[in-house]
Amino acid sequence: MNIPSAEEKRDHLVENESLCDHCLGRQFAQLGHGLENFERGLIAREIDDLDEDSFEEENVPEDAQQGHRCGCNACGLVFEELDHWVTMVIDSFDRYELETFLIGIRPPEDVVSREDELWGEYGTEFTEPIKTELSRLIGKRIEDEIDVTVDFERADIMAVVDMRDGKERVELQVNSVLIYGQYNKYSREIPQTEWHCRKCRGSGCDQCDWTGKQYPTSVQEEIQEPFIRESKAIEAKFHGGGREDVDAKCFGKREFVLELIEPLNRNLDLEEIQEEVNESTDKVEVFEMQYTHKDKAADIKQKHADKKYRAQVETEEEFSEEDLKNISEVVGEIEQETPERVEHRRAEKVRKREVYDVSFEKTGEKRFELEVKAEAGTYIKELIHGDEGRTQPNISDLIGTSAECVQLDVIWIEK
Ligand SMILES: [Zn+2]
Ligand SMILES: [Zn+2]
Repeated sequence: MNIPSAEEKRDHLVENESLCDHCLGRQFAQLGHGLENFERGLIAREIDDLDEDSFEEENVPEDAQQGHRCGCNACGLVFEELDHWVTMVIDSFDRYELETFLIGIRPPEDVVSREDELWGEYGTEFTEPIKTELSRLIGKRIEDEIDVTVDFERADIMAVVDMRDGKERVELQVNSVLIYGQYNKYSREIPQTEWHCRKCRGSGCDQCDWTGKQYPTSVQEEIQEPFIRESKAIEAKFHGGGREDVDAKCFGKREFVLELIEPLNRNLDLEEIQEEVNESTDKVEVFEMQYTHKDKAADIKQKHADKKYRAQVETEEEFSEEDLKNISEVVGEIEQETPERVEHRRAEKVRKREVYDVSFEKTGEKRFELEVKAEAGTYIKELIHGDEGRTQPNISDLIGTSAECVQLDVIWIEK
């Protein structure tokens, strides 16, 4: 098919359609820079020998005016009603603290079908969709009126202007505020995030004292409260860079992202809130809290961080210093079948993991302290007791008596 020249296209449009300047100009939206479509429309009307280079600022007639002659059968009155939408969007922002925004448009149905007809008839060469033009014009006016900026990548709020008949409203999609931090956990009695009571699954029963919770608190709950209060978020989500067992302490500063859902306030004094958290609890301590973004949260969750652990180990039989030294042989590659305790969650398979370093000290006749630095994903309790031979090699076999990890702490996490 022959692609029509700009002049041919203009001639056909002007002859067969009665379009306003916006809608005529929009058929040439890809041509020229720094122009609005109503200016392109005027150029298209006034220059006889139109070509692709005609769409320049110097060719815009002096009396060009936005919204002028709007009301053609392509656009209805949408360009005359922009002020109405601008006011509605600004009003809807009223409760929110924001710096950046984005406008989405659902144009009236008849405008969309008319656009499809025009494209079918005259081609899509040089054009842009009417919703692109509308969102740009509305966005610019809002930028002029209040102190906010359009941001296509990471807007604080997306305002969807629904112009369809019978709808006529503005819907807000308020993006989360994401806060990066690191935590230490000093309690052996709390999980990382809230667990529902196993018996009632959260509805409340005598076993959980009608709280619906398996544990009275969690790392997340210890941290989130002042953030929710200050941001007036409806809730928070906790994205941890892995997690330790309920009965394990963590001194390794584990990374996390706290996601505040639909916050009214986005400018928080993070330093002050961090201090408040740390003064309010001895179960958890937080560090390095700072604003971050979605990619970072995904990063932290996916990251395979090596770790170092300190374990207190008890054995069935007495053992000698010589027996203990055999533990060094565990350094290198080990193979672990998925432990029974997590089998319901992960597919069963043999995984190879690297143990980088071990050190150990006898602390009693049937007791020693062990430090292990190992690759991400190594099951340390199983490395110690052997999981009935499902971890090879394992520490029980190496010292010649059953060994059980009675206490486990994370003391270092790769960053
Ligand atoms: Zn129009
Ligand atoms: Zn319960």
